[in-house]
Amino acid sequence: LPPGEPVLVVRGLSVTFGQVKALSGVDLAVPKGGVLGVIGPNGAGKSTLVDAISGFLPQAEGTVELAGRALTGNPTQRARSGLRRTFQQDRVPAGLTIEAYVRFAARRRPPAAEVAAALEFFGCPPAATPLDRVDVGARRLIEVVGHLMAKPQVLLLDEPAAGLPHEEHIAFGERLRQVPARFGVSLLIIEHDLDLVRSVCDTLTVLDFGEVLASGPQAEVLADPAVLKAYLGE
Ligand code: ADP
Ligand code: MG
Repeated sequence: LPPGEPVLVVRGLSVTFGQVKALSGVDLAVPKGGVLGVIGPNGAGKSTLVDAISGFLPQAEGTVELAGRALTGNPTQRARSGLRRTFQQDRVPAGLTIEAYVRFAARRRPPAAEVAAALEFFGCPPAATPLDRVDVGARRLIEVVGHLMAKPQVLLLDEPAAGLPHEEHIAFGERLRQVPARFGVSLLIIEHDLDLVRSVCDTLTVLDFGEVLASGPQAEVLADPAVLKAYLGE
């Protein structure tokens, strides 16, 4: 594998909702300076995984380590420790300019030139544009920029391309591919567009019914017959 050490290590993660075992003993690792993709059918537990890692599900069992240290506490504490996440649904508020939102999201004052460069890198409208004049696809990108400006060690992206026109997925993927080197942020990406997954991810973990079905280098995992059967219905 090109990137070496893992920066985020999850062991034995289990979550139940009443009778539903949403996750059972999930192990995974995000490579430092790399991108882990998490794929799996609808209802496999992908969003629950992001919720649990980021501290939204206090009932979760198992351990999460960020850069060798136990990651615990509520979502705000985990964000301060260097772990950030997006939601499957766009949560960017209206009523602010892009720049004001990015500064708010970053919880710091990144220099205007740094914000402008990041917005340009992702093909977003200029910083002074009001968010209510930005389409849903661009809002997804702006949300990512806001998180990157916070300089977390790891960013978890839950279906970041949802809402972007399909023809923009590959360009977005190429930019995400460059995020670890350019912004110093390692990524975990939940995504169902396999073309995007192929273009972005170093390693893949496949979830099915809340369990890890396969894990490893992207090309190997995507060629695994069990994965093709579960994920593609082949
Ligand atoms: P995915 O993101 O892979 O589509 P989810 O993590 O959203 O899957 O859901 C995994 C399973 O957990 C599903 O069966 C879903 O219905 C269930 N689930 C998710 N969140 C809750 C919740 N808050 N309460 C009860 N069941 C939930
Ligand atoms: Mg989901």
